[in-house]
Amino acid sequence: KLTICKSVLDLDYLINVPVLKAHCQTKLTCALKNLKGCIPDSEKRRFHSQGLHRPIAALNVAIKTDLVVVDGMCGDLTFEEGGNPVPMNRIMVGYDPVLIDAYGAELIGLNPHSIKYITLAEEYGVGSTDVDKAEIIELGHRQAGQPILASPLAHRLSSYIDARSACSVCYGSLIHALARLQDEGLLKALSKKNLKIKIGQGFRNKKEEGIGVGNCTAGIRHNLPGCPPKAKDIVEYIRNELCKININ
Ligand code: SF4
Repeated sequence: KLTICKSVLDLDYLINVPVLKAHCQTKLTCALKNLKGCIPDSEKRRFHSQGLHRPIAALNVAIKTDLVVVDGMCGDLTFEEGGNPVPMNRIMVGYDPVLIDAYGAELIGLNPHSIKYITLAEEYGVGSTDVDKAEIIELGHRQAGQPILASPLAHRLSSYIDARSACSVCYGSLIHALARLQDEGLLKALSKKNLKIKIGQGFRNKKEEGIGVGNCTAGIRHNLPGCPPKAKDIVEYIRNELCKININ
């Protein structure tokens, strides 16, 4: 049994407008979890007592989202209430909240299946996590202009980056990826080798040693393509590169 605000059940068409952020308990908050805004506070407390994941997935069976518009302009690196904002300058629009969450998770460096409510929502028939089969249309031009990092954590992570005219969306992806690598204890390996990840349009047509992220750093010896690459792909790539060069 779920208690849902009646005004939501009376709607003809529901547009869900979440902010893409990391979350201290569920790792991610985006479309599926945003529907908690459609239940009374007493029910929210009950969701927490039940561990959040299963009730969030069930809520998305009871309330059908017709359209999702995600504010991915400046979400948070670690915490849903803010503190470590990272500009990403993205808006995402889609019909399937499971797919949107799976894609959003990858954009901030997480494996969608490490977030239990996403997997459960797929099992309950709310949508699909198959990002590879999704039709994704990207609009807009990349513009060089590194973001201003207001957060001390993001600042610390930026010390692992050699950026030259990087677009904010690319730079933000790398910051998210470095935060996940820090959680895995892998950043020490980068420090030991004094390695900085190269990124940005200033590396175009340059041939150099090191690790580069994004199409602009195609001339760097170890390069992950993408414009921009997803944070999840950056995490996997850097993790593999660190294993190969046996830094530990
Ligand atoms: S790879 Fe694309 S998004 Fe990244 S810095 Fe180059 S142009 Fe910008």
